[in-house]
Amino acid sequence: MKHSMKSPKQEQAQDQGNGQESDLHDLFLDELADTLSAEKQLTKALPKMAEAAESDELREAIESHLEETKQQVNRLEQVFKSLDETPRTKKCKGMEGILEEGEEMLEDEKDSSALDAALISGAQKVEHYEIASYGTLIAWAEKMGHQQAATLLKQNLKEEKAADEKLTELATAFANDKAN
Ligand code: FE
Ligand code: ZN
Ligand code: FE
Repeated sequence: MKHSMKSPKQEQAQDQGNGQESDLHDLFLDELADTLSAEKQLTKALPKMAEAAESDELREAIESHLEETKQQVNRLEQVFKSLDETPRTKKCKGMEGILEEGEEMLEDEKDSSALDAALISGAQKVEHYEIASYGTLIAWAEKMGHQQAATLLKQNLKEEKAADEKLTELATAFANDKAN
């Protein structure tokens, strides 16, 4: 007979029915609150990044993603509401750190012809961090059968991926002419 690898706590949770499911649900809500904080931090940081951009194309790309980001905040609030929860935030230290590093980079590069390259690199770190968060949230939402939440989260993920691709395009264009 196989020995169970489950801890007494897990056994108990299972005996009680939905213990494991409700642990995942709590984790899901915490990660949603973290992601809402991340998106809200971004609505404050993106205008500064747009203003710093040298090229019109990069500025426009950042401005257009700012508008999307405001919609993403709305969608995350709708996700909470779809679960009968009040939208809440939990300070995202990951995003805080990425943005801090980005600001430092801007300061260091402010007189450099590679300023836009630096901005793009910071912005892509932001997008990849968000892509990771949404990928996880979608998987959990689907596992728990939160279909409406999953649909909303997928819309955000799609925009993050498109923003990342646009930045890659711009980075490639810059690499081919300017920042050398
Ligand atoms: Fe976002
Ligand atoms: Zn976070
Ligand atoms: Fe984004």
